[in-house]
Amino acid sequence: MIPAEFDYVAPQSLDEALQALREGGEDAKLLAGGHSLIPLMKLRLAAPALLVDLRRVPGLSDISRDNGTIRLGAMVRHHAVATAGLGLPSLAASTIADQQVRNAGTIGGTLAHGDPASDMPAILLVHEGSVVVRGQNGEREIAAADLFEDYLTTSIAEDEIVTEVRLPALEGYGFGYHKFNRRQEDWAMVAVSAAVKKGADGSAEDVRIGLTHMSSVPLRATASEDALRGKPLTEENIAAAAELASEGTEPPADLNASADYKRHLARVLTRRALADASQ
Ligand SMILES: Cc1cc2nc3c(=O)[nH]c(=O)nc-3n(C[C@H](O)[C@H](O)[C@H](O)COP(=O)(O)OP(=O)(O)OC[C@H]3O[C@@H](n4cnc5c(N)ncnc54)[C@H](O)[C@@H]3O)c2cc1C
Repeated sequence: MIPAEFDYVAPQSLDEALQALREGGEDAKLLAGGHSLIPLMKLRLAAPALLVDLRRVPGLSDISRDNGTIRLGAMVRHHAVATAGLGLPSLAASTIADQQVRNAGTIGGTLAHGDPASDMPAILLVHEGSVVVRGQNGEREIAAADLFEDYLTTSIAEDEIVTEVRLPALEGYGFGYHKFNRRQEDWAMVAVSAAVKKGADGSAEDVRIGLTHMSSVPLRATASEDALRGKPLTEENIAAAAELASEGTEPPADLNASADYKRHLARVLTRRALADASQ
C-alpha cells in the first residue's frame, strides 16, 4: 500500500529537530530506521502529516562505556548492538529479524515504539537501564520500569526525542537469551532474557529474568527470580524457579499461539535461558 501524503524534513541538529517537532504538533512523527513507522504508514494505520528524520542529527550513533554504564546513542542500529560484544543486548539484537532490518532499525526507535513483541524492551528492564529524552523543557531520564505503559504506549511525550539509552553493564553476570518464533526472522511469540551472577560458593547472588510478549508490556519474571536468588544453581533449582515464570502474566493470544501455550513457552524458555546464564 502507499502511505498518505506527508511532508518531510531532515534537520541537522537536535535543536532543529525539536523545533520541527514542536511546529508539526500532534501530526508530526520522528523517523529513525523507519522499520516500524513506515509499514504502519503503508497500512494506513498511521498518517503523520510531517516526518522529522533523525538520520542527519549528529552525535546519536555512538556506543561508549564509562563508570560501569553502557551508553548507546538513540540512532545506534541493531546491527551495531549485535556486533559490539555487549552481552545480553548483543545476544538479543542479533535475533532481530534479518540483516536488512538490523542494518536500519535503531535502539531508540524500538524502545520508543513500545511493541511488547520487540526484543530490546525486556533487555532494558533486565539491565534496570533508562532512556534519556530531550524536550522543550530540557532533558530528563526515564527509568526502564517507568517507560512502558501499555501496548505501543510509552511515557515519552510526543514532543520529546530519545537521545541516549543507558545500561548498567552487569559485570560478572552470565547471560542467556531464548526466543521462540515460527520463522527465524519473525517477532518473538515469546522470548526470555536471563542474567545471573554466581557467588563464590556457586549459588545465585543475583537473578534477573525478562519476558517478551507475555503482556502488553515487557515484564520481569519476579517469582522465578525470587525463587532462585540465593540458591545453588543446580538443574533442579533452575527447573523449579522456571515453573513460576508465567506467574502474573497476561499473554495476548494471537494467530500463532494461545495464552496457555505462551505460558508454557515462558516456562520452558526461562529454564533454558537460566541454564545458559548459569554456566
Ligand atoms: C520485517 C520486519 C521484522 C521485524 N522483526 C523484529 C524482531 O524480530 N524483533 C524486534 O525487536 N523488532 C523487529 N522489527 C522492528 C524493527 O526492530 C524496527 O527497527 C524497530 O521496531 C523500530 O525502530 P526504527 O528505528 O525502525 O524506528 P521507526 O520505525 O523509525 O520509529 C518507530 C517509532 O518510534 C518513534 N521514534 C523513533 N526514534 C525515536 C527517538 N529517537 N525518540 C523518540 N521517538 C522515536 C517514531 O516516531 C515511531 O513512532 C521488525 C521490522 C520488520 C520490518
